Amino acid sequence: MSEGAARPPGEGDEFGFDTRAVRAGFERTPFGEHTEPVFLASSFVHDSAAHAAAKFAGEAPGYIYSRFGNPTVRLFEQRLAALEGAEDCRATASGMSAIMSVLVSLTRAGDHVVCSQGVFGTTIQLFALFARYGIETSYVAIDDPAAWEAAIRPNTKMLFLETPSNPLTGVGDVRALAAIARARGVALVVDNCFCTPALQQPFALGADIVVHSATKYLDGQGRVLGGAVLGSRKYVDELLQPVVRYCGPTLSAFNAWVLAKGLETLSVRMARHSENALAVARWLEARPEVERVYYPWLPSHPQHALARAQQRAGGAVLAFDVKGADEVVRKAAAWRIVDGCRLLSITANLGDVKSTITHPASTTHGRMPIEARREAGIGEGMLRVAVGLEDPADICADLARGLGG
Ligand SMILES: *Cc1c(COP(=O)(O)O)cnc(C)c1O
Repeated sequence: MSEGAARPPGEGDEFGFDTRAVRAGFERTPFGEHTEPVFLASSFVHDSAAHAAAKFAGEAPGYIYSRFGNPTVRLFEQRLAALEGAEDCRATASGMSAIMSVLVSLTRAGDHVVCSQGVFGTTIQLFALFARYGIETSYVAIDDPAAWEAAIRPNTKMLFLETPSNPLTGVGDVRALAAIARARGVALVVDNCFCTPALQQPFALGADIVVHSATKYLDGQGRVLGGAVLGSRKYVDELLQPVVRYCGPTLSAFNAWVLAKGLETLSVRMARHSENALAVARWLEARPEVERVYYPWLPSHPQHALARAQQRAGGAVLAFDVKGADEVVRKAAAWRIVDGCRLLSITANLGDVKSTITHPASTTHGRMPIEARREAGIGEGMLRVAVGLEDPADICADLARGLGG
């Protein structure tokens, strides 16, 4: 390798976050390219029959087949591991395949999972699907560590937490839950999608495994789907790698390249997303038509102090309730705001430089039984905004149109 070739994984941790985001995981080829190449190759050749045999036996290093190893996918895995402070990482085709891989790697028929309320809707559907295979899931309030502890059974294998939650931005105490998980011998898994390692580092707070929908802020520009699972080398080698190799939830090399390049600008983007979201949240909080704003960086947020202790900033996602005499009136008011938007995109997606707005009660959470939705605090007057990188004044002006000028 030429001078300046990247360090092997694990080295280079003396560098700061932004340096790792730009440099980690890049192993320059003999061509001396300055930027990361993309290896679109399904398989790799061996020097000889003996070399092939040694690689297949795991006795010689080297790539074999891209279902379970590709240099560009490895670049993304090593770069993300360097940012999360994880020993190792496996990339997957989507966030859901990352969560599925964790579930399959940690559980068997007869096991049990405890999950926070207010997780991504498809995560709930995934856990429901696995009930067919004898894996049961209980849901508990994100902000009640005692409820988590009480929900743990002898057959519980993992606690699954998404913080901040969607759409109410409830914050889970990762340190407290990690202590409970450790004492009871179960794994604490954190979906770090909303914050990304630029704003929150669950391993430093005691988490065992981190999962990502890389589709969201790791890419950040709405281009590709991807996911990742991070953990100890032992977990990755012994439990996760067989799932990746035998089930094939593999990330494509091209998408890995897009995502690795996305990580280079992650902290710049997340800082600006957070600044813009705070500006929009403050503006909304001052509007007479708004009942309540949910955003962890507002002092009015019930877990503001906890958020400040474990996050570096508030992130991009906020929600708010509009005022109204009853649910029918509030729903009409919320839909008026959505329909008044000319700039914000009406989509349930998030994690993009373009701001998005959604009405959870009739979209992402529309299939939830109404009592469960009410219990979760998702009313007809609630809107969720994932604040992008447009000028915050333009975002506010767009919301003002439907709010009443
Ligand atoms: C989108 C999302 C997922 C699923 O990711 P995909 O890449 O769409 O499969 C999981 N968790 C959270 C928090 C998400 O927002």
